[in-house]
Amino acid sequence: LLVVVVFLVGSLLSIVGHHKPVPSLAERLDSLRFADSSVISFDPAELDRASGDFGMIVRAAPAAVMHPASERDVAELVKFSHAAARPFHIAARGRGHSVRGQALAGGGVVVEMAALRKGRERIKVTCPVECYVDAGGEQLWADVLAETLKHGLAPRSWTDYLYLTVGGTLSNAGISGQSFLHGPQISNVHELEVVTGKGEIVTCSEQQEADLFLAVLGGLGQFGIITRARIALEPAPQMVRWVRLIYTDFKAFSHDQERLISVIEGLNYVEGSVIMANSLINNWRSSFYLEEDIKRIKELSEEHGAVYCLEVAKYYDHATANSINEAIQLLLGDLRFEPGFQFKTDVAYVSFLNRVREGEVKLQSRGLWDVPHPWLNILVPRSRIVDFDQGVFKSILKHSSSNNNSVGPILIYATNRDKWNQRTSAVIPDEQVFYSVGILRSGSGDDDRKDLEQQNKEILDFCDQAGINYKQYLPHYTGTSDWMKHFGAKWSLFVERKMRYDPRALLSPGQQIFTSSY
Ligand code: FAD
Repeated sequence: LLVVVVFLVGSLLSIVGHHKPVPSLAERLDSLRFADSSVISFDPAELDRASGDFGMIVRAAPAAVMHPASERDVAELVKFSHAAARPFHIAARGRGHSVRGQALAGGGVVVEMAALRKGRERIKVTCPVECYVDAGGEQLWADVLAETLKHGLAPRSWTDYLYLTVGGTLSNAGISGQSFLHGPQISNVHELEVVTGKGEIVTCSEQQEADLFLAVLGGLGQFGIITRARIALEPAPQMVRWVRLIYTDFKAFSHDQERLISVIEGLNYVEGSVIMANSLINNWRSSFYLEEDIKRIKELSEEHGAVYCLEVAKYYDHATANSINEAIQLLLGDLRFEPGFQFKTDVAYVSFLNRVREGEVKLQSRGLWDVPHPWLNILVPRSRIVDFDQGVFKSILKHSSSNNNSVGPILIYATNRDKWNQRTSAVIPDEQVFYSVGILRSGSGDDDRKDLEQQNKEILDFCDQAGINYKQYLPHYTGTSDWMKHFGAKWSLFVERKMRYDPRALLSPGQQIFTSSY
């Protein structure tokens, strides 16, 4: 009898032990104590907010959202997951201005970097010999600009839109019309402070922990969370002469752009765009033009199917204002734009850099900002840009039925490869001059979005079939073989660095490069 009782009790205990409920991630996170006053939130409204992004295409709900009070607490969270028997994914979220779920962490923890901005000075200008600014990875570039301008200084390289975070753009590259001259934003960083995927806080630069520094720049959030960046500065100008020139001939347009970025010296900014007949309406870059300009450009565009706009800027100060006309005439005198289609304006430097904000506010007031953004960004080698124009602008997009419903600019501007540090994680085409092409349209609804997605696919298929060796910028792939192709010769180093700095593949799972089913 005793044997039977012992056996029954033993079995009962083993059954109970076996079915002991596994603690949920929420329960495990509840046991985590931070040194500073970071908060882990399970509030459904917050989880909902962290489940989507600017693209409004992909959704993935995290188990929790962290509002960090310090980089030390961010490190604590990462260390906790790194050491756990059952790790969880962690995504730093800047402003969530990605378009394909890159800052999401389904089932994991989203770190709302914005919380680091609260209550502490996180942007500091220092001038030992040359001046630089130390900015928290969570900082908006708009705020970095505002602070540096107090010292008469500003970063050299920008994105078109300033309400993006330092950590977010440095995880990609950060490109705009200044890149041809100064390289992307990742070429203008002296030092980073990073929380690695092991939860270590490391200061790195070209001189110290160089491998981590180079991995993180353009690293798509895979190797660490940027908590501080030391960024190069230049004296800030006061004014900007901002000029737009309209072309009907693509070859003349691209030829002039290439001269302006390599032969003719003196401009501070060069970009370009394609104007389809209706694309000046509800476009966040059209505030430059007067109503009558828009009418004339639209007519020209209807006549030619599309026209091209070369956009340049020259910085100046009040003291040099009287020579700006002459300087611009010298720089632009030989260009082959359509006679009578030169438009110019003079604006304060800060208004120029913040030019997209006005368009954003306008679109927001019309309910056209928080809509799906199936954006496609690709880098196209110079030698194939005319083929790209023929196959994409003059064919796929010209015959698109969606053009009437969708809004948003189509950017195309040339830049110089030698301004990029080839040892960072960013990948670019293998030619000295390449074009950044941004097809930044938004859909008015789900059907419209699907049409635009289909067109994006047609564009990429066209490039593949035509043998155009493009690289996606802000890349989106879901399969390892596509990522291998994207990174090309850099893939094995990328994987090695992942093993070194985030061996359990915790960070930025939304990029879908290293898949692990936590
Ligand atoms: P998020 O979208 O929040 O994050 C992007 C990725 O970086 C995610 O994988 C995230 O996990 C990771 N990440 C975020 N913060 C950190 C951090 N501190 N450390 C490590 N990883 C981090 N880009 C350009 O280059 N040029 C432009 O001119 C330009 N214009 C834009 C205009 C608009 C209106 C919009 C919406 C975007 C534009 N972008 C441009 C794209 C922009 O650079 C990307 O969206 C970029 O990801 C920055 O956005 P974010 O700060 O919201 O980062």
